[in-house]
Amino acid sequence: MNYQKIIDQQRTFFNSHTTKQISFRIQELKRLKKLLKKNENLLYEAIYHDFKKSEFETYTTELSIIYEDIDLAIKHVKKWARRQKVSTSLVNLPGKSYIMPEPYGTVLVIGAWNYPFQLSLCPAIAAIAAGCTVVLKPSEIPARTSAIMAQLIHQNFNSDFFTVIEGGEEETTNLLKIKFDKIFFTGSVPVGKIIYQAAAKHLTPVTLELGGKSPAIISEDVNIDMTAKRLVWAKFLNAGQTCIAPDYVMVHSSIKNDVLASIKKHIERSDYRIDNHNYTQIINDKNFDRLNHLIDPDKVYIGGKGNKEERIITPTVLDAIDFEDEIMKDEIFGPILPVISFESIDDAIQKIKKLPRPLSCYAFTKSRHTREKILREISFGGGAVNDAVMHFTEQSLPFGGIGESGIGNYHGKFGFEAFSHYKSILQKPFWIELPLKYSPYSTTKLNWIKRIMG
Ligand code: NAD
Repeated sequence: MNYQKIIDQQRTFFNSHTTKQISFRIQELKRLKKLLKKNENLLYEAIYHDFKKSEFETYTTELSIIYEDIDLAIKHVKKWARRQKVSTSLVNLPGKSYIMPEPYGTVLVIGAWNYPFQLSLCPAIAAIAAGCTVVLKPSEIPARTSAIMAQLIHQNFNSDFFTVIEGGEEETTNLLKIKFDKIFFTGSVPVGKIIYQAAAKHLTPVTLELGGKSPAIISEDVNIDMTAKRLVWAKFLNAGQTCIAPDYVMVHSSIKNDVLASIKKHIERSDYRIDNHNYTQIINDKNFDRLNHLIDPDKVYIGGKGNKEERIITPTVLDAIDFEDEIMKDEIFGPILPVISFESIDDAIQKIKKLPRPLSCYAFTKSRHTREKILREISFGGGAVNDAVMHFTEQSLPFGGIGESGIGNYHGKFGFEAFSHYKSILQKPFWIELPLKYSPYSTTKLNWIKRIMG
């Protein structure tokens, strides 16, 4: 496929200024929503084929988020795209200053496999709202899901405006040789570094939505049952294949056994079982083997069973883990929850801070002091107090990492901003001009300038 030709055509279309019309953006967002709604069954079927993700989880964790994003963008894009008037200093009066959001241009969106629709389409929605043309490269791993996105978008959008290029490492490597005006990448830290290097060659701005080990910290004063219930949902949803899933739990030693017992109770009550069609598969054999290898049979508190043929691993909790264990070396990205106990919150914070800054962090506590300590002392992308994962659903919150967990953010208006340049303008009339800055320079002029500038 001639990628350069596709991108050149998108650039020509962008330069026609069509995408700068708000009415065009709204029309295309409506087209996308209608298309997805009309073909919802195909979407459920594709994702179930790829990793047996249930209709329930596909709707709640993928489609509902996409629909919400589209609706929010349609409702607010006019306001987001408006010029913002700002103050003008004395030296530039009688002028006026304003900030003009401007679409970056032709952008590349690279998706990850774990929420294949949402992680591809939500950044694309933000890019369309911002007035960009979009090349979307979904993850090749859920192949049917990638194919259905490509088919629907090819059939319903002008490829000069919005197109899908399917493929994996080779295709992405070739795409990255071409200059884009923005690259939005969701995926792993090692590939994020490759993307950043490729973008740097063209000085292309990036948003990198990466991963990491997100801790859940449980202090001794919590509601144990509610904590365990929320954690079990957040961890084993999508079989733990969630970038912001609690990767590991740090719990005060005085309540560890009670927390473990409560986690066990909630796992047993859940749909997360080998024989339940609502429990998602592990995406492929490679990940199944990697995860299986991380389960130390001596430390299994509950679970630890796998069915290779079905690519299912039961919700697994590992007890008596410490930071030296293999499972604490990298992001788990599967249904295994290591539990580490601590004696003092200071000690727990110090240990967490030795790892790279995580994408998320969850503080379970009733104590204001403990909550503030965790929020102030640990650096992380975003998170929740007394809950996990749900902060992702708040469109008023920017979503993104820090350090190794990413660069930039999106969701709601922040997504619009991720694809916009904020052009700053000072506008002046012709009818008056202060003579102070012009030569010939003089002490009198300088003294006036000093008085004005302060
Ligand atoms: P990945 O990095 O393997 O792949 C992501 C994308 O990069 C895919 O489209 C893939 O085709 C492409 N790719 C893979 N290798 C490449 C290479 N060598 N050169 C160029 N492109 C390449 O990630 P993944 O396995 O799809 O997703 C899992 C990771 O993504 C986890 O680390 C997870 O935490 C992270 N993630 C982050 C978020 C977030 O919002 N921050 C969301 C989901 C997943």
